Amino acid sequence: MPTPNRFAFFNGEFMPIEQANVSVMTHALNYGTGCFEGIRGYWNEQEQQLFVFQLRAHMERLLQSCKILYMQLPHSADELCSFTIELLRREGFREDVYIRPLAFKGDPIIGVRLSGLTDSFAIFAVGFGQYIAGTSARACVSSWRRIEDNIIPSRAKVSGAYVNSALAKTEALLNGFDEAIVLGADGQVSETSASNLFIMRRGTLITPPITSDILEGITRQVVAELARDELDVPVVEREIDRTELYIADEIFFCGTGVEIKPVVEVDHRAVGNGEVGPISARLVDLYGDVVRGKSERYREWCTPTY
Ligand code: PMP
Repeated sequence: MPTPNRFAFFNGEFMPIEQANVSVMTHALNYGTGCFEGIRGYWNEQEQQLFVFQLRAHMERLLQSCKILYMQLPHSADELCSFTIELLRREGFREDVYIRPLAFKGDPIIGVRLSGLTDSFAIFAVGFGQYIAGTSARACVSSWRRIEDNIIPSRAKVSGAYVNSALAKTEALLNGFDEAIVLGADGQVSETSASNLFIMRRGTLITPPITSDILEGITRQVVAELARDELDVPVVEREIDRTELYIADEIFFCGTGVEIKPVVEVDHRAVGNGEVGPISARLVDLYGDVVRGKSERYREWCTPTY
């Protein structure tokens, strides 16, 4: 049973979660004018420790999203990290958790704009398991296109932009798939509804560049580093065509929520031989150790809670 969450950090204070509420008139609820992060904490049973993975990188990205949305939080990245750790300590989690910092326009007013409004900020955390169940995923190419940088900035994690993700994910689920791969406006592969993507072709890992209307994923960066430094696999950032998905040797999704998830089928075509590929399998294992603080070399990516 996951531990029920009892506290939130809301507008500068820790409080019981049931007190951290907003009005139905809240600007962000009406217009999607918020931005957020998704961070994971991993319980290490042996060390009796909860390690938060890439905490500072997530808070830095949150502040960048805020900047794009004309939001000014009264907190530095370091302070945001401290509040998160303090919240987790108060909760006393002894399990894997998902942490959600959320910055949003909190004013109870009508009128679409971003400037001249009040910024609210909250952090809450919940016990969390796998985002996509099982050891692999079946995917489709979505009929929905990814939002462009000049429509809703994809590199900012904007609340309202997740309607695009929700449409793509729902279509995929209703059609019997686990996840949607979304093409950009130019028809090339961008990412999935909630993760980045790598394909393996002829011994090279390939992922779309940060100018392909993707979220600049933190896990994407971690995977690239692990592949190069631990597996000696070259990593290339370049555009990916849809049909490259159909002939790739391996494909996997990567993101905080989905972790590393090998893809064994796209649009009813087997990826490789339809089994989890060798590089994907090694990355899954490696990542599993790294996030739980079990790899000395990458220990600085893991912030201990207790
Ligand atoms: N793209 C989208 C649209 C996402 O929602 C996420 C999850 N945050 C990612 C990519 C992966 O980003 P990260 O590895 O930083 O979690």
